[in-house]
Amino acid sequence: MEEVRTDILILGSGVAGSYAAIHAANLGARVALVTKTELLSGSTRWAQGGVAFPSDSNDIPSHLMDTIKAGRGLVDEHVSITILTEALTQLKHLIDLGVHFDAIPALEGGHSKPRVLHINGDESGLHLLTFLHGQLPSQVSTFENHFAAELISTGGAVHGAVFWKDGDPAKPMVIRADSTIIATGGIGQIYSFTTNPSESTGDGIALAYRCGAIVRDLELVQFHPTVLANGGLISEACRGEGAVLLNKNGERFMTKYDPAEELAPRDVVARSIYRETIETGGVFIDLRPIDDLKHKFPTVYGSLANLGLDPLTEPVPIQPAAHFLMGGISTDEFGATSVARLFAAGEAASTGFHGANRLASNSLLEGIVMGSRAATKALESANSTVSQVEPGKPPGCETESQAEIRQIMANCASVVREEKGLTNGFNDLSEISTFPARSSAEAETANMRLIALMVVKGALEREESRGSHYRSDFPDASTDARHVEQQFDHSGAVRD
Ligand SMILES: Cc1cc2nc3c(=O)[nH]c(=O)nc-3n(C[C@H](O)[C@H](O)[C@H](O)COP(=O)(O)OP(=O)(O)OC[C@H]3O[C@@H](n4cnc5c(N)ncnc54)[C@H](O)[C@@H]3O)c2cc1C
Repeated sequence: MEEVRTDILILGSGVAGSYAAIHAANLGARVALVTKTELLSGSTRWAQGGVAFPSDSNDIPSHLMDTIKAGRGLVDEHVSITILTEALTQLKHLIDLGVHFDAIPALEGGHSKPRVLHINGDESGLHLLTFLHGQLPSQVSTFENHFAAELISTGGAVHGAVFWKDGDPAKPMVIRADSTIIATGGIGQIYSFTTNPSESTGDGIALAYRCGAIVRDLELVQFHPTVLANGGLISEACRGEGAVLLNKNGERFMTKYDPAEELAPRDVVARSIYRETIETGGVFIDLRPIDDLKHKFPTVYGSLANLGLDPLTEPVPIQPAAHFLMGGISTDEFGATSVARLFAAGEAASTGFHGANRLASNSLLEGIVMGSRAATKALESANSTVSQVEPGKPPGCETESQAEIRQIMANCASVVREEKGLTNGFNDLSEISTFPARSSAEAETANMRLIALMVVKGALEREESRGSHYRSDFPDASTDARHVEQQFDHSGAVRD
């Protein structure tokens, strides 16, 4: 079997993985940066809003308060202070590298002041990621179309991963590394309606879980309130610029639900839209109050044009869709997981920064800061030797099961959840059979099934409503805010 030896292995070339690669290489490490599709992949390239940086050091307490308020009791204050403080250093670093942020910061939902920096209007993620890839130093070897099928785990530590070139198990390759960083992004593909790209199947979280890492709060899935029928997103910044929500009767309704109206936190807006849709038959966003929509939001305008909709003449239909995972692989403030030499950063990780509900544009920021920290800590891991690698057979599911998984999740674990639906959903997911994967598509399906089971199990266990997680049978938050942890090694754990 082909083998490559490196110091740091990074799974995923979104913002977290790419920034970690630059950082690790600048510290002198040899890095392997691997993606299952092309380098420009994952959610990062689709990010429209931008990056939420505190305006200056005086703004850190206010940015922290907004983050804590959105996170509904589950934000780790210490971790958040360190991330927001380091944000200013990383902002300076990005500007020094040559990133051109737009001059005027934008106001987004849940922020008490304009502090979201865009890069080239609403194409921020695409421009940021393209720029980062242009900065990868020569010690970074990139591997495209290499599907991470399995982590190599011996003696309680991770020493690299097994990949399938072109997603084909008949073309295996091993990358051995002193440390491995998982930056494989989110899980949106387990839902039938999502803003996430096709890569977001939760692979890295499933791999880490199978080798014993603690994952937590997987039930905390944020639903973006304003999504078009084709999954295209109407950025929060549009509401910051004056767009309003109307029900089927043409009435503004957010005034009924929250004093911040259209700029209320995402969970409040998503649930309000859900209710108004049930009560009146549909919800629309009116973008006409925005001056110069075409120029300010070219991506939004383009998505609408693709659907044959003209936002300059009429309101356009929207609904909530799975958007962001607050939970993930549990890490400390440096990106270390509960397994030795295994690190995680970006959306795949759970640092405690987002709590039970992410504040708009805080995720690219977290990817930048935690990508750089994970790289630093990963390098501190001592050299390791592994004599032999015996790839196992990762589980697979029939690829047709993907549609079934998505439908089950849409029915039982979407914006509003309750015990009976969740229990039925868990049983239905359990009945989907697994076998050794014969392709990356089958392995992805098994990963989606495993993640879906953990989301539902977490949602059943969390008998309260908090942030993005709403249980109609437990509509209030419990008095003690707690994390829901899951670990493969424990009895009663979800298994493939
Ligand atoms: C439409 C949209 C708009 C958004 N807008 C904003 C915004 O304005 N501001 C903000 O802060 N956040 C925004 N977000 C959220 C943010 O974009 C993501 O949380 C963030 O980009 C995640 O970055 P990441 O590096 O963790 O993962 P990703 O960017 O998702 O990258 C994941 C990488 O992992 C690779 N990968 C996955 N599985 C495997 C495997 N098995 N083997 C090898 N490689 C694998 C993928 O190919 C990809 O390269 C938005 C998200 C979406 C979907």
